[in-house]
Amino acid sequence: MKKKVTIIVPCHNEETTLPALYESVRQMIDANDGYDWELLLVNDGSTDGTLSVMRELYGRDCRVCYADLSRNFGKESAMLAGIDHATGDCAVIVDADLQDPPELIPEMLRWWEQGYQDVYARRKSRGKESWLRRRLTLAYYRLLQQTSRTDVLPNVGDFRLLDRKCLDALRQLRETERYTKGLFCWIGYRKKEIEFDRGDRTSGSSSYSLWKLTNLAIEGITSYTAAPLRVATIMGIAISVLTLFYTAYFLLKTLIFGDPVRGFPTLVIVILFLGGVELFALGVIGEYLGKIYHESKRRPVYLLNDYVAPRGGGAAITESEGRDGIKEI
Ligand code: UDP
Ligand code: MG
Repeated sequence: MKKKVTIIVPCHNEETTLPALYESVRQMIDANDGYDWELLLVNDGSTDGTLSVMRELYGRDCRVCYADLSRNFGKESAMLAGIDHATGDCAVIVDADLQDPPELIPEMLRWWEQGYQDVYARRKSRGKESWLRRRLTLAYYRLLQQTSRTDVLPNVGDFRLLDRKCLDALRQLRETERYTKGLFCWIGYRKKEIEFDRGDRTSGSSSYSLWKLTNLAIEGITSYTAAPLRVATIMGIAISVLTLFYTAYFLLKTLIFGDPVRGFPTLVIVILFLGGVELFALGVIGEYLGKIYHESKRRPVYLLNDYVAPRGGGAAITESEGRDGIKEI
């Protein structure tokens, strides 16, 4: 029996890119008929015609299936929806905008056949991006690496092949505030890195603005490591010690030279400085408290409006091949 490979595509407003993605995936699939294929499209609350494009693809090709989420839950949740519904022996997560070339999948499969359970693609180049965005991203990865025990790999996105064991492991991690890049590393399993050139978005625009990325970065740090809490503690200790010396200094000065009712600036500086530090520490604690608050509600990560399973068990009739074109794949 052939092994089954699921291709998971999270889609948010991708009506313009989906047909091109399908075409490129289909070509790759047709050239690799040693496997059964499943193309699982996840509609993450798109407001354009993405769902109708999915329906049309579903009608055209019986390897296509789709899950329709009840609203936009974000890519992280959409990926989990894909992982939950993947029926393959392994699954590959691919962006809808063709930034992750499907042509790389056969190479991933070769490594998978050799026993690797998580084959991830590292970007050699990052495509067109502003200088600031690239710098910030790299600095962020460095920070994350230094503060956490398990590595989060720089320049590695969600484009990867996951063995059934990894998929089952990820399905167990139901936290609502998801930082999937960290989860991939956390689950472990045998990993293999391959390299690729990340192209530019073919059409449409990236859903991730710098602001959204910043939020994702804070999300990443706080869901992956408790180091900022430690920083707040250490800062608290350091400042307390310094204040002790400062107090001693002033006490001695007053005792020796008297108190000429000056020192207003020092007072203001100290109050402002301590106020700032306190607010920072409160903010950090608040971040984690917020996480506990959200997680404690134990809400599902996403809600499904509809899931339509693939019609075929590996044989496909595509319109382009005509009615007699039952193709073994
Ligand atoms: N995406 C999603 N839900 C969202 C935002 C994005 O499913 O809320 C999908 C999007 O359709 C695409 C992938 O996630 O397939 C990557 O998104 P995008 O290209 O906007 O991100 P970038 O490539 O800039 O990181
Ligand atoms: Mg993209």
